Amino acid sequence: MAAVKKFVCSHCRYLLEASDEGHAYFLSDEGKPQFFSSSARAEELETFLQHSAGKDLKDQERTAFLAQRTGTMRDMLCIDCGGKFRRDVDRQEIVCPGRKCHSKNVYAVWYLEGQTCPSCKTGHFKLKRLLSVP
Ligand SMILES: [Zn+2]
Ligand SMILES: [Zn+2]
Repeated sequence: MAAVKKFVCSHCRYLLEASDEGHAYFLSDEGKPQFFSSSARAEELETFLQHSAGKDLKDQERTAFLAQRTGTMRDMLCIDCGGKFRRDVDRQEIVCPGRKCHSKNVYAVWYLEGQTCPSCKTGHFKLKRLLSVP
């Protein structure tokens, strides 16, 4: 079960939501993040292991390989420009990728409660609903 939070701006009703599971991804051989689909994740992981690790791995090797090449990205919001993007907060620098922005005033949507709304710059985000989804 995943939890989903829905936030709404107290002023302009801007809505955002995020899941506590984030977005699982792996790094391709070119180093590009590729997201797993939630429905076929186990199969995609096997395909990735066979394709990129290239041989039958022992448990330890498999764990080390996955630690290097997989992660989870969070939905992020830039409070300055309102840009939405994904980041692996354990691995990547948390800076807004907006061309003219580069703000560090960014938050995981999951932790948005109380932050200023970038859309109207007046309201604050309030937790509207907390849902459980299978
Ligand atoms: Zn607002
Ligand atoms: Zn920004």
